Amino acid sequence: MQFASLGSGSAGNSFLVKQNKSLLMVDCGFAIQDIVSRLDRLNESPENITGILLTHEHEDHVKGAFRLANKFKIPVWLSYGTFKMCEKHMIKSYEIDLNIIDSHNTFEIENFIIQPFPVPHDAREPIQFTLSDGNHKLGILTDTGSSTPHIEKMLQKLDALIIEFNHDLSLLESSEYTFSLKKRIRGKLGHLDNQTAAEI
Ligand SMILES: [Zn+2]
Repeated sequence: MQFASLGSGSAGNSFLVKQNKSLLMVDCGFAIQDIVSRLDRLNESPENITGILLTHEHEDHVKGAFRLANKFKIPVWLSYGTFKMCEKHMIKSYEIDLNIIDSHNTFEIENFIIQPFPVPHDAREPIQFTLSDGNHKLGILTDTGSSTPHIEKMLQKLDALIIEFNHDLSLLESSEYTFSLKKRIRGKLGHLDNQTAAEI
């Protein structure tokens, strides 16, 4: 199994996970031209993508997802809550194979066994994933405001973990961000702080 980041941060998030000919994209937070050129840098093309998994509806995770899926006929897997929040942004003429997933049930896409799990984040039904090819297991934990016993259980016995954490609590407090933005970042539904990520 191989994985690569096409970019992460508030400007856009997208990861690739590959096993033989199966290529999964987790989130697509870049515009379609941008994602195509980022794929090209890794010698991949949209035609090779087996499926797109979405974690939640925030723009930096879904921006180009539906245009890409429609243009290149790539099936999409997402939670019902994410689907409802994204539905209004989907153009009626799009013909996308949408697969609504239960946030607790494993499912398979070609060689991959995928386990979604719910996370606390300020979205409608946010999830994160582990992906296994039978030999190796990769965990992905990007947007979550805090850790939970369930998250820690899901992340046991991994071979690799992609984890995003983005703030130091004391630096955040002394920053010039507005009070409401500070509150969102450090809240239980925002993003992980460095200390909590280290504990996981
Ligand atoms: Zn988010």
